Amino acid sequence: MGEASTGELFQRAADHATRFRDAIASGPQRPLMSYRQALDSFREPLPERGSAGLVVVDELAAKAEPGLHRMTGPRFFAWVCGNSHSVGVCADWLTSTWGQNTGNHHATPSASAVETIAGGWLLELLDLPRASSIGFVTGATMANFVCLASARGAVLRQAGWDVEAQGLFGAPPITVLIGDDAHATVFSALQFLGLGHDRVVRVKTDDNGRIAAGDFAVAAATVSGPCIVILQAGQINTGAFDDFAGIVPIARRIGAWVHVDGAFGLWARACPERSHLAEGADAADSWATDGHKWLQTPYDCGYAIVRDEQAHRRAMTIAASYLPPTFEDERDPSHYVPELSRRARGFATWAMIKHLGRDGIAAMVARHCKVAEAMAERLRADNAIAVPNDVVLNQFVVRFGADHPDEEADRLTLQTIARLQADGICFAGGAKWHGRQVMRVSVISWSTDDRQGEIAADAMIAAWRAVR
Ligand SMILES: *Cc1c(COP(=O)(O)O)cnc(C)c1O
Repeated sequence: MGEASTGELFQRAADHATRFRDAIASGPQRPLMSYRQALDSFREPLPERGSAGLVVVDELAAKAEPGLHRMTGPRFFAWVCGNSHSVGVCADWLTSTWGQNTGNHHATPSASAVETIAGGWLLELLDLPRASSIGFVTGATMANFVCLASARGAVLRQAGWDVEAQGLFGAPPITVLIGDDAHATVFSALQFLGLGHDRVVRVKTDDNGRIAAGDFAVAAATVSGPCIVILQAGQINTGAFDDFAGIVPIARRIGAWVHVDGAFGLWARACPERSHLAEGADAADSWATDGHKWLQTPYDCGYAIVRDEQAHRRAMTIAASYLPPTFEDERDPSHYVPELSRRARGFATWAMIKHLGRDGIAAMVARHCKVAEAMAERLRADNAIAVPNDVVLNQFVVRFGADHPDEEADRLTLQTIARLQADGICFAGGAKWHGRQVMRVSVISWSTDDRQGEIAADAMIAAWRAVR
């Protein structure tokens, strides 16, 4: 069997991709296969001999597709998933094709330059301090990690301790203040950094998951010594924002480093209609956000943004004699992330900002927020369906059977979610919100518009009526 040309291989992959994406909105909006079935589909003994490239590509598509979720479709509302926009995918294909190991600007001038330029665009879009440094990481989890590593180094340096060189043993203790409704991955970052996910001071939040300045002041009054404050732009269930304008000045008075987890919510700052929600967030010291959520880049893509570039670099820099020398005045991608060898994420970021533009991004964020409001309103028209949060952004939670006792509504909500997923018209999942079962809805895919929101809300109502 003759080996296929590069062109034939690439064309075949493009054909599979096109077929998949063209059919994304039809058929059940869920995987057609369970994990067990997918295991059986892929299971075979370790191949002793190789297979022709085209055979591998065809077989991969055939085996994978039934177990793929319609995450990039217009009626996917679970978790917080962007659309892996086609333009971003093209940039991502080219990125893989070019195969740049993006550690150093001497080795990969274009991949390094595009990060510098796209990074500057991001600061403008999100209206953050223009001299901030940016690490292009895998997602907000790693962005939180990088930002908090920078924070850890800076607050300990102030206390006369060099954590990068000496580690944490014997270091002055750091107090971490964090909201009760912070995202789970921030606690992971604390865990990775030796700060402990349980060793924090949790600050009370309101019914929407928001820290109020008054509650923060109470917690801050107990702090002495090095301190990191972790705030949130966009709570995962409610889209709520902490009161940055009220909180940051208090945090400053206790000498704290302020970090903002804004995986999706920071993008409110790119939308004039919603930017008031994140007012004052620019006064923080570091910010974590994602490209693969509201910017619609393919996975994986996140940004660790730090006001104090030196703190960022000290926390991340890798130096080795075999690496090309670095010059202080030029940016090496590896100075701002944990990895050395890594994918050139700047290309997809550049392509998505270039494609959508500042106007397009603002319009998309505004559209998604309006769709979320309209869906919540449609659902609330049924007396037994409650949307308990203020729909300020693109996220809301739903209780079915809200006119029943709490335990009964928990059960009815779970049943409605199961029914909705089985119906397959749209997809949403469950969560616990302040102790009660809810269905959560995120409107964040490029392809979701008013009409898709209506179809989905009607499917949710129909699932509830079938269960009731
Ligand atoms: C998604 C999310 C994260 C984690 O981001 P990943 O991109 O999944 O690593 C952190 N915080 C919030 C608020 C999120 O929505």
